[in-house]
Amino acid sequence: MSLHSPQQTDSAQLKVDKTTLLSAFGKFLPPEAILFENEDLHPYECDGLSAYRQLPLIVVLPRTVDEVQQIMRLCHEHDVPVVARGTGTGLSGGALPLAEGVVLSLARLKSILEIDPVNRTARVQPGVRNLAISDAVKPDGLYYAPDPSSQIACTIGGNIAENSGGVHCLKYGLTVHNTLKLKVVTVEGELITIGSDALDSPGYDLLALMIGSEGMLGVVVEVTVKLLPLPERAQVVLAAFDDVEKAGTAVGEIIAAGIIPAGLEMMDGPAIQAAEDFVHAGYPTDAAAILLCEVDGSNQEVSEHILAVRELLQASGSTEVRTANDEAERLRFWQGRKSAFPAVGRLSPDYYCMDGTIPRHRLPEVLKKTAELSRTYNLPVANVFHAGDGNMHPLILYNANNPGELERTEELGGKILELCVSVGGTITGEHGVGIEKINQMCFQFKPEELAQFRAVKHAFDPDELLNPGKGIPTPKRCSEYRALGNHQHPHDDEASS
Ligand SMILES: Cc1cc2nc3c(=O)[nH]c(=O)nc-3n(C[C@H](O)[C@H](O)[C@H](O)COP(=O)(O)OP(=O)(O)OC[C@H]3O[C@@H](n4cnc5c(N)ncnc54)[C@H](O)[C@@H]3O)c2cc1C
Repeated sequence: MSLHSPQQTDSAQLKVDKTTLLSAFGKFLPPEAILFENEDLHPYECDGLSAYRQLPLIVVLPRTVDEVQQIMRLCHEHDVPVVARGTGTGLSGGALPLAEGVVLSLARLKSILEIDPVNRTARVQPGVRNLAISDAVKPDGLYYAPDPSSQIACTIGGNIAENSGGVHCLKYGLTVHNTLKLKVVTVEGELITIGSDALDSPGYDLLALMIGSEGMLGVVVEVTVKLLPLPERAQVVLAAFDDVEKAGTAVGEIIAAGIIPAGLEMMDGPAIQAAEDFVHAGYPTDAAAILLCEVDGSNQEVSEHILAVRELLQASGSTEVRTANDEAERLRFWQGRKSAFPAVGRLSPDYYCMDGTIPRHRLPEVLKKTAELSRTYNLPVANVFHAGDGNMHPLILYNANNPGELERTEELGGKILELCVSVGGTITGEHGVGIEKINQMCFQFKPEELAQFRAVKHAFDPDELLNPGKGIPTPKRCSEYRALGNHQHPHDDEASS
């Protein structure tokens, strides 16, 4: 059995039969909005982290907020667990269904409700794709900054739930920094507003709490995002290195020089080769690592920063520094990076994407130790990541058909995340905990801290019906994990006492 198999919850035993539930849904949803045959349920059995699969009991696809409220009221009345879902591109098993639960797809709530170019905001439904927002506001000279590499497919509701990041988040912040207001349906089916059209609102910062809550506190049904003016110019520099650690050091030096690039991304040898074979981005395939450093702003600012970045990269020991000559070349350089996950996916039957974040200056050391762990476990690891944010994405290549290989992969992934925590980092930067990193929550946090997380969950969802079994490990799970010899991270206060 996989180390990360979903933890059982009290709601695992359904208190209402499927036929009764289907007939109750049929009273307010049209037949095409209710899926229950196995062949219709299969597309919903996993998210982008395909290592874990589970068919749900029923999938519902509402078209209105009122229908979402009715679904939640019904499920609450019958104690039926609900897993909200965008387009299932998540990489931590967050949208993994429960056998005795309903998947609530928000994909059909996909209207852009309002664009306000004067206040630079857009009000959108949760099923709107990330890129569709920037496409819609481009005629007004605006864009939505957080840009996950999956932006062509992932929804803004999923982005809110995961507090998603992307290439541009180094300079412009994560989803949480670019969201003003949410409308949320509670587990009881009430519609509430969190945040406001102003920059701040009184009381606890529930907006920040809801963003990144992985569908465990409420169902997001409307999002007001902040928009930014399109920069006058953007230009990217590609630097090749014969040594991964040198590339890691260069990242710190660029930021230390006072330049905040619009994006600062790193790929190592296996990722470069895979991306080049896949999209022919023009990458130097003999390099051990490349950095892509984009600067944006006014024409003059970009010209000055490009010169400074080139000098810094050369001084850091890069073997080649290339500036994209035109927009077509800039987009080609980025296409390689943005296609890197599927490109690496072509190298082996399966890959497992980790998401640890570390203080930037520890990059060289963590990359070195990750390579050592890869050798110890005899599993190849390709690295492609948001280097400027210290947000690592080691991709472990494995074959789930080989007996025991998934379990070995999970163990290696766990060790990499624990390494990130031990240098002062965290087990997730942008993909969330979901089911994949639930064991490492026991490493990162003390039992008292996990109890506080559970208290927050229970304040919103006392019966644990919203995405149960994700994000927060039970005390039992942590005891079992520790019994396997995985010890909790020594916290600073304990280490010094
Ligand atoms: C190739 C690839 C590249 C990626 N690159 C990045 C990247 O650069 N940066 C990054 O941050 N992520 C990245 N991701 C991960 C993923 O795309 C994001 O986590 C994204 O936000 C998920 O959106 P989704 O609509 O697919 O959500 P889903 O996968 O459907 O759901 C994700 C979580 O959100 C919850 N949820 C979804 N909708 C709602 C809602 N309306 N209300 C409440 N909860 C909800 C679900 O229950 C689940 O817990 C990448 C994924 C892939 C496959």
